[in-house]
Amino acid sequence: MPKIDTGLAKLLALILVASSLTAPSASVSVSRSAVARGGLPVIPGPPVGEPAGAADTGGRCADPAGTWLGMRWRNELRWRINEQTIPAYLGDRATVVASLRSAATTVDTGRNDCGLPANLGIQESYAGHTDHTAGVTAAGGCGERDGHNAVSFGRLEQGLLAVTCIWWFGGKENGRSVETDVLIDDTEGLFFTTTPANCSSRWDLEGTVTHEFGHAFGLGHVAFAEHGTLTMTDGLPDCSTAYRGLGLGDYLTLKQQYGTN
Ligand SMILES: [Zn+2]
Repeated sequence: MPKIDTGLAKLLALILVASSLTAPSASVSVSRSAVARGGLPVIPGPPVGEPAGAADTGGRCADPAGTWLGMRWRNELRWRINEQTIPAYLGDRATVVASLRSAATTVDTGRNDCGLPANLGIQESYAGHTDHTAGVTAAGGCGERDGHNAVSFGRLEQGLLAVTCIWWFGGKENGRSVETDVLIDDTEGLFFTTTPANCSSRWDLEGTVTHEFGHAFGLGHVAFAEHGTLTMTDGLPDCSTAYRGLGLGDYLTLKQQYGTN
């Protein structure tokens, strides 16, 4: 398994790698958004030792920045978790499932830290366990579309934390999303569901997956250097649970695309 380079481990570099790959069928396209750590281009992060939750709430609720991948869902996104792939170090599977579901609900409703109404008109539902795994390769590429929206854990190379693939019909601009899969690296000790004592070089599972569901619904990245407090930033500090909700720009960009209930 890839080892965390201690010199780079304080920051999570999130990269959108390929915007569109050749699709397995003529009419479906696929997009990949990867979350990486160590060994890949790293954007300067907060000083080492800065307290978890260093994201400034004022900045998070004052920054309207956001980018859009292009495609979006016209129908409800029904997704499942492959519980058998949840690594043992994360403990109780029900707790892990609850964290993943909470992340999806945050993006679905627009839950935020800024006092904005959680009434976004996105439709998402958790449909239970699946035996399918995410159509994402260990190298972080997108595999075949299989008709199931699966979140699973598994091996990811190159220091990747998680990868989201989206398949859609039509052009990328205004395309219709038809499937999304999320693969989360199962390297021991990489994530936590509750901040551990003396936390170092570990990432909040829920905040990371909130970011991934942001991609699944169509959000792109904003640059850490200017927008590091937003959930769709391309760099996330380790040990921070401050990214479980949406910031202003994350929220406004989703609202622009999906409207409100
Ligand atoms: Zn990302």
